[in-house]
Amino acid sequence: MRKKIIAGNWKMNKTAGEGEALANAVKRELSAETKVDVVLCPAFTAISAVSQAVSGSQIAVGAQNMHWEADGAYTGEISAAMLRDLYCRYVILGHSERRQYFGETDESVNKKTHAALAAGLKPIVCVGETLEEREADQIESVITTQINGGLAGLTSAQFKNVIIAYEPVWAIGTGKTATPEQAQDVHAMIRGLLAKLSDKPTADSVRIQYGGSMKPGNAAELLSKPDIDGGLIGGAALDAQSFIEIVKAAADA
Ligand code: PEP
Repeated sequence: MRKKIIAGNWKMNKTAGEGEALANAVKRELSAETKVDVVLCPAFTAISAVSQAVSGSQIAVGAQNMHWEADGAYTGEISAAMLRDLYCRYVILGHSERRQYFGETDESVNKKTHAALAAGLKPIVCVGETLEEREADQIESVITTQINGGLAGLTSAQFKNVIIAYEPVWAIGTGKTATPEQAQDVHAMIRGLLAKLSDKPTADSVRIQYGGSMKPGNAAELLSKPDIDGGLIGGAALDAQSFIEIVKAAADA
């Protein structure tokens, strides 16, 4: 049995004070949640405040990006150790917005994944096809390239600390959701790819989240599918009540 994991990707929203308030509202309802792993991923500037707000609860904190080097002359960047220093336990890597706007590649995702794991962070590695790629029947080839490139060189032990987020780009922030069947098909395909990269028991232990306009109204159905092990939530994570309802749907799934 894989434990479900719901992570909120706040993107470039919420100041430290606003993030603290949102984290406190989530904590009021979910402080003792143990059936589901709950993760809040604020902007870098709000991580410290959110970590303090959720300390002593079951809620974990993650970042939205990091650099692969440990330190050095990389102006504007943040290392894994810096995130650990602020009590982060997770880091989102290779989000489609980073691929689209900031030149993130499978190669950089791979370096970051290795660096995150080496520092004791659990990477949430995002993959997903664009609408054009879906319409051109390229889902399998695109996802295969992203998975094989982003996760190259990991040991079976390391795979167990990786979370994959399948986020069809056309469903992110658009209100369009993949149907539970469409998502399940891709999740099963990803699990098959993981088995080839490691072995079947390892692939069966890796959690694969769905992301793309997940909200209280569609979460339960998506999360009922056998290979959908949680959600990476964008817009709906900015509203405490919506996020809490999604976590509760995961707990009941
Ligand atoms: C995301 O960006 O990770 C995401 C899934 O966004 P949204 O839920 O807003 O589609």
